[in-house]
Amino acid sequence: MHTYQLPLDLVRQRSPERPVALVRPRSVAVAAQWFQDNLKADVFYAVKANPSRWIIEVLVENGVNAFDVASLAEIELVRSVSPNARLAFMHPVKSRGAIKAAYADHGVRTFVLDSHDELDKILESTGHADDLNLIVRMGVSADGAAYSLSGKFGVSPDQAPALLQATRHAVKDGQMGVSFHVGSQCMRPSAYEAAMTQVGRAIKKAGVFVDIVDVGGGFPSVYPGMVPPDLSEYADAIHRGFNEMPVSETTELWCEPGRALVAEASSVLCRVDLRKGDALYLNDGSYGSLFDATHSRWPFPTKLVRDGESSSELKPYRFYGPTCDSIDHMPGPFWLPADVQEGDFIEIGMMGAYGVAMSTGFNGYGEHEIAAVEDAPMGSMYGLAPRSIPTVRTTAEENARKVVRLSRPKGKAGQRKRKR
Ligand SMILES: *Cc1c(COP(=O)(O)O)cnc(C)c1O
Repeated sequence: MHTYQLPLDLVRQRSPERPVALVRPRSVAVAAQWFQDNLKADVFYAVKANPSRWIIEVLVENGVNAFDVASLAEIELVRSVSPNARLAFMHPVKSRGAIKAAYADHGVRTFVLDSHDELDKILESTGHADDLNLIVRMGVSADGAAYSLSGKFGVSPDQAPALLQATRHAVKDGQMGVSFHVGSQCMRPSAYEAAMTQVGRAIKKAGVFVDIVDVGGGFPSVYPGMVPPDLSEYADAIHRGFNEMPVSETTELWCEPGRALVAEASSVLCRVDLRKGDALYLNDGSYGSLFDATHSRWPFPTKLVRDGESSSELKPYRFYGPTCDSIDHMPGPFWLPADVQEGDFIEIGMMGAYGVAMSTGFNGYGEHEIAAVEDAPMGSMYGLAPRSIPTVRTTAEENARKVVRLSRPKGKAGQRKRKR
């Protein structure tokens, strides 16, 4: 992988034809270190957030050699980079073939389940192995998360005790655990504590001994208009929640961060192929790495990457991707100088998680180049950049006006809005 000091150096040296994933390996290293230093938990990287080989390599080099995988393809990918990695198959619904291959061919011993049928399936597909670690995925409330991950998976609190008992009974020499996911981009540390209280109640009701408490993913990153609390508040909430749970001193704490390990580690460099008013037609889009910008309308931060600074005011744009589908539209608003034109390059930041990972080959687009850069990400949870990116990026002058406006006491309108 070639390294450029700045994205602009790449544009200067060779205007890339295809979109480029601009990667910042140091961000991954710093994030991996943060989790190991600050959370008293085994860290399993959720591969689905970004299955790029370089990420797995950097994680392993920096002490994270455990992975939350959800498919045979992810298992094979991780094994090909790190033959001795710890793998946990954390998808609550797996095919018999996948369970069998994971166990027999790839040495996977840890499997998650959220139903009695899945428990039976795992036992049958592994020949009732006595070295299985079985983890019960519990449904918990997803208040405070941008993406709920509890709609599809997780045993409900009333059905949990029976499943916990059955799973405890099925575990022989291995470990029995519980897991949950508070939802992705969780903005409230207290959500973890609340989930642990709920899970603790089910454990008590079931009267089982639990070897592993896995708090899942959900740790946030920085996006325009979303300023998460400091990650240390998440660690504190999880440690408090763990202390209150009816578990023993030998019970292990695990976590499965995806987004927080990789979000700031990649941005995407795109080219403007046409401008129509406030619409920019780019060479990357919804079927490429901008899925969330389309379907969740996330206004990712943007920068013009042009030789010689633009002196124009910033104005809001929307984007279209390269395919012929009208869904291939990103409403933004994305803030860029007023004089953006065809042939300009734009860096879209904070795309490391659920960015490149979402890319399809629809309509013949979707292929990316990859290059490393050495500048800071646009926002950071780890002190590499500010922990806030303004929603509306304005010129310095407009910004100054805005501060004055925001600092005025809120009137009735503001109060009404808060109550809604
Ligand atoms: C997606 C997922 C994760 C990672 O979630 P983030 O919000 O990216 O941290 C972790 N565990 C499971 C089971 C998941 O499905």
